[in-house]
Amino acid sequence: MEIRKGIGVSPGFAIGEVHVLTDEEFVISRKSVTDAEVAAEIARLERASRNAVAELSSQLQKMSRRVGQSVVRILQAHIELLSDIRGKIAEEIRRNRYSAEYATSRTLKGEMKKLDSAPREWVQPILQDLAQIGKALLRALLGNRHEDAGRLSRKVVIVAHDLSPAQTLALDRDKVLGIVTEVGGATSHTAIVAASLGIPATVGIEGITRDMTSGDRVILDGGAGTIIIDPDEPTLKRYQAMERNFQVMEQKLSRELRELPAVTRDGTEIELFANIETPEEIPAALAHGAEGIGLYRTEFLYLRGSGLPSEQTHVEAYRRAVALLGPRRRLVIRTLDLGADKMPINGIEAETNPHLGTRAIRLCFERPDIFKTQLRAILKVSALGNVELMIPMISSLDEIDRVKEILDGVRLDLLREGEAIGEMPKLGIMVEVPSAALMADVLADHVDFFSVGTNDLIAYTLAVDRTNERVAPLYQPAHPAILRLLAAVIEAGTSKGKGVSVCGEMSGDVNFTLLLLGMGLRTFSVVPPAIPEIKKIIRSVTLAEAKSLAEQAFKLGDARKTAEFLRQETQKILPDAS
Ligand code: PEP
Ligand code: MG
Repeated sequence: MEIRKGIGVSPGFAIGEVHVLTDEEFVISRKSVTDAEVAAEIARLERASRNAVAELSSQLQKMSRRVGQSVVRILQAHIELLSDIRGKIAEEIRRNRYSAEYATSRTLKGEMKKLDSAPREWVQPILQDLAQIGKALLRALLGNRHEDAGRLSRKVVIVAHDLSPAQTLALDRDKVLGIVTEVGGATSHTAIVAASLGIPATVGIEGITRDMTSGDRVILDGGAGTIIIDPDEPTLKRYQAMERNFQVMEQKLSRELRELPAVTRDGTEIELFANIETPEEIPAALAHGAEGIGLYRTEFLYLRGSGLPSEQTHVEAYRRAVALLGPRRRLVIRTLDLGADKMPINGIEAETNPHLGTRAIRLCFERPDIFKTQLRAILKVSALGNVELMIPMISSLDEIDRVKEILDGVRLDLLREGEAIGEMPKLGIMVEVPSAALMADVLADHVDFFSVGTNDLIAYTLAVDRTNERVAPLYQPAHPAILRLLAAVIEAGTSKGKGVSVCGEMSGDVNFTLLLLGMGLRTFSVVPPAIPEIKKIIRSVTLAEAKSLAEQAFKLGDARKTAEFLRQETQKILPDAS
């Protein structure tokens, strides 16, 4: 049994076998054979290793004709290493009665792990050799049986170096018990998608794809950010009970609170909206008690199919969203925010620093064809429901003016074409670039609402890549600079009668609910599973209490102390909050 710590990004427990996604996704399950089958299994291994040697030798011959001796020496070393490893795999089959492929995968990973303590630069070539041999052997044992993570045949915990947001969205929710990755931060889009879908997830566990083999057993605690590899029986029992308890508590909280209003003890109504990536998430969001959708991240329309979505594809998605919400519930459609960790569009050049590059509205200005297609669809659908339009990554007033100009042009085109479009939808901006936060009092005169994107605001203000686990400790929502910016934006918007919400992950973190309330926030937009707990906190306090707590937090002037203070205050209301 081994415990590893990462960053918990989506709460909940997952207990089961892992499915390790590698470059070559062989299906390897933990499989045992009977005593009588051991000899046959070893014979399979012998055959496979002869085939692997043949494969490596033929590569060697081809290469020796074309290249110098160094490559030839590497391949010769591979062949020698393979015959050495074969003995260890056979021993594993004999001792544990594992299938040849499972024994192969385990033995190789075990050998790699032994090299952990040696300096990286010395062992890197040996690790590469072992990986090559492993692939050659598994190819020989399994043929080309690859598995698509979107079409899994059984329930598993996915272990991967990284998963793109689009890959995460494509996962089969019924088959994926949890997600563990080596890279990523708490607000990387992959983490957000996992949290939205309610899939327990932990990121930032270094070397985990190397250390685990498909079929190994694991316990994942997405709240604590830990995984337990090969748990013993008592640990397994304890976590099974915790998992049952978590589900019961979640369902109970959700059921109890769903119909109750989000209102403070002294009677102030708070709006609680959900963030979604696809309209399919709307029923679950409503079931959790969302009043509507405060952030619809439409860029996932661009990541699903091949090529750009047509106007009709946009229209259908927005119609579906309106149909699911009904005509009165609010739907805030955010125009595309591609770039950074959400893949760029095919044909658009990659940039060396995409977080600071042609992302979101910048890309829309560069490619008005793409932007106008989306705006046309939003205007066409807006009359059918309570649709609002939101622009990401605004950094100056000039950009708002440009958006309005393009929007007016699109509206005129549609009217000329005889489209029965209604009033112009409300126009809001994401405040997620520090320059916009600092200019919020000026920008407020030009838009209908603000939604603070704390995920990016924190990253850009503190100069911390939100997807990089190495700098994760520096990603501090409770940093005094962030609190000051938030307070300024909330004040700038509300004093001018403009709606202000926070839709970054900070808004869905119960530890910040009291602070945000105390700072004057009245609208939250969060991942759907977070709604019940946020509502519970809101219903437990008066505004005066929240205000006094925010004042105390401001005086602390230090991120760590503030985070700890807020955690303790929150635990008084929700003892299980972490
Ligand atoms: C944010 O930046 O806080 C936000 C909500 O947008 P996204 O996470 O999609 O960048
Ligand atoms: Mg953002």
